Amino acid sequence: MKNIKDYNLEELKNELKEIGEKPFRAEQIFKWLYHEKVQSFDEMTNLSLELREKLKENYTICNFNILKKQESKDGTIKYLFDVLDDNAIETVLMKYHHGNSICVSSQIGCKMGCKFCASTGINFIRNLTSGEIVEQIIRVEQDTGERISNVVLMGIGEPLDNYDNVVNAIRLINHPKGLNIGARHISISTSGLVPKIYQLAEENIQCTLSISLHATDNQKRNRMMPVNNTYPIEELLQACKDYIAKTNRRISFEYALAKDNNDNLEDAKQLVKLLKGMLCHVNLIPINKIENGKFDKSSNENIMKFRDYLNDHGIVATIRRELGSDIDAACGQLRRKNL
Ligand code: SAH
Repeated sequence: MKNIKDYNLEELKNELKEIGEKPFRAEQIFKWLYHEKVQSFDEMTNLSLELREKLKENYTICNFNILKKQESKDGTIKYLFDVLDDNAIETVLMKYHHGNSICVSSQIGCKMGCKFCASTGINFIRNLTSGEIVEQIIRVEQDTGERISNVVLMGIGEPLDNYDNVVNAIRLINHPKGLNIGARHISISTSGLVPKIYQLAEENIQCTLSISLHATDNQKRNRMMPVNNTYPIEELLQACKDYIAKTNRRISFEYALAKDNNDNLEDAKQLVKLLKGMLCHVNLIPINKIENGKFDKSSNENIMKFRDYLNDHGIVATIRRELGSDIDAACGQLRRKNL
């Protein structure tokens, strides 16, 4: 049976038409699912008993069980969710002064093979459905009783490798009758699947695109991110320029700083050359060392020098706050789990 949270509003209207129901029922169901966050059809009390029975026969409502919840010293909370097929994924809630931000997973495992990331060491199992992507947000809001204002698709998985479900999930997250989180408060991060960047530019979604760049020459980027063998830096940056021209949106480039690898001033100089004139921002991430990983974190001094060099040369750069590293909830530390 299909999870009812996998449908966007238009699709659900069509589904209901097919079982002889009026389309406005879809809006009522949306309200129960995304505003009231109910966990069963029986709670949808403005629907007739008959319709509730029909819904039960045709659909399930996905409700993740919380298998584990860990809280960091800095207030970050990491959830381990049972995705109901013997797999488990992680989701992270971060508390900032501007509101609550959630980092959601898009796949169970990851195919990209980035050498510094723990999400990819174990095999890829499957894509998450759009309902399962959205459920992570619903479940955390239910559990904390707090509103989430920002969503980053930066958990386990490569979002653009699960393109259709991710785009549909973004529409559900953004829709006023869905979770109603503004598109500008949604970020999607990619390791650089070039054809999908061109496709995303056509979707007319105002979310923020983040690109995991991490190196300024192909040799180095190949060593860190195998995807670069298929889509090298020049092609990636061309796709980014096209994306900016089409959407008028600023791109955020992520650059994880690893000691003696990509963190000296020569790298910063190259980065300025590559990004000069682009509508962009650089987000520097102090790399988190992973088990058996060969990359170590740069010194604070180097990280600040790198940032200052970029800022002094016309590229706006900030350092990402390290949240949740004591509970393995920071960038690159999430993993899928077997039950
Ligand atoms: N698959 C997507 C989302 C990944 S997570 C992507 O590649 O963009 C978000 C960011 O964390 C990415 O920029 C990723 O490269 C970075 N990251 C992965 N492992 C890391 C680590 N060990 N330390 C710091 N950042 C890391």
